[in-house]
Amino acid sequence: MERYLGESTPKLGFGLMRLPRNKDGSYDVEQCRKMVDRFLASGFTYFDTAYVYDNGDSERLVKTVLTDRYPRDSFTLATKMSAWLEGRTEEKTKRQFTESLERTGAGYFDFYLLHSLKTKNLAYYDEYGLWDFLREQKEKGLIRHWGFSFHDGPELLDRLLTEHPEAEFVQLQINYADWEDPKVASRANWEVARRHGKPVVIMEPVKGGALANPPRDVRRVLEMVDPNASCASWAIRFAASLEGVITVLSGMSTLEQMEDNLSYMKDFQPMDEVGQAAIRAAQEALKEVDCIHCTGCRYCTSGCPQAIPIPDIFAARNRQLIWNQEERGRQSYENLRKKGNTASACLGCGQCEAACPQHLEIIGHLKECAEHFGDLATDLS
Ligand code: SF4
Ligand code: SF4
Repeated sequence: MERYLGESTPKLGFGLMRLPRNKDGSYDVEQCRKMVDRFLASGFTYFDTAYVYDNGDSERLVKTVLTDRYPRDSFTLATKMSAWLEGRTEEKTKRQFTESLERTGAGYFDFYLLHSLKTKNLAYYDEYGLWDFLREQKEKGLIRHWGFSFHDGPELLDRLLTEHPEAEFVQLQINYADWEDPKVASRANWEVARRHGKPVVIMEPVKGGALANPPRDVRRVLEMVDPNASCASWAIRFAASLEGVITVLSGMSTLEQMEDNLSYMKDFQPMDEVGQAAIRAAQEALKEVDCIHCTGCRYCTSGCPQAIPIPDIFAARNRQLIWNQEERGRQSYENLRKKGNTASACLGCGQCEAACPQHLEIIGHLKECAEHFGDLATDLS
């Protein structure tokens, strides 16, 4: 049987980006301590933070609640370096490594990652020589294993793993809802990692919390198989059942969430065929949810005389239609509005509809989006 890095790591990791807070916005340190204690006492070991989380407060909290209180060999710690920050320079970016060591008091990192690689920011990682930099830190014994987290498509992942075969693992966004999603490409990216023999840390297994509260028909499908299992448990167990997984990160915010996660991850067994069939049924149910069936291929955008970001607009609306995330959908639309033309700028020329392989009635959908988001028509005369 194939062996891989981190195979013996318990399959649930504690993501330190949605920690419990007090009313004034500061961390609820007492609650964080309790969660860390409970997590470790249950036999779990993996903690995940990043230089940028909460402007460094997440890393500082690691020192308070973890490294100052537990022997260094009783846990594993992962953090990340971001080359895309405002005002970046090579020197400042490399300095993040030393700062992370100081903030966490960890002495070394078990897992260290180049953070959130994608087409848009890749050049900084190359230009600053950060691949070599991590290799050097490993040689000095300051990193046990290094890799990168990734938010792009399978072609780029394949290229990166071909150009950097010494990267030891990758962190990918994987969940059953995004399994075939053309943008997130959970399945395709996981397959590329497996082909390169790289183990995977999984992030967003519950799709930012959305799969804890999925559309009614999805919930019904899952509850039919096991009325006692939480919807979040299905999502996390699906991810943890994949081959070659080091651990699945869950950004737990309360002790209750942690208890739920621990209840099914403590003696974790990969999902059997009945479970897998339930997930496939949930994926089918998701496809039936009334939404805009855009695959995000972007064939429609290049010919649009108004440069309207059609798939991004549909993604914002689908957040609301599929996931009931009214506010987040509105926020996404507002962000698009700040950058340029949105739905109300459509001229109705039909170029996009001719290009769309899904035969979507794009003009009609854009009109509905404009109305829903209160995007008043621009006077184009
Ligand atoms: S119909 Fe509207 S969205 Fe489509 S190409 Fe023309 S202007 Fe762009
Ligand atoms: S061509 Fe159709 S499916 Fe592709 S992004 Fe545009 S609207 Fe979506």
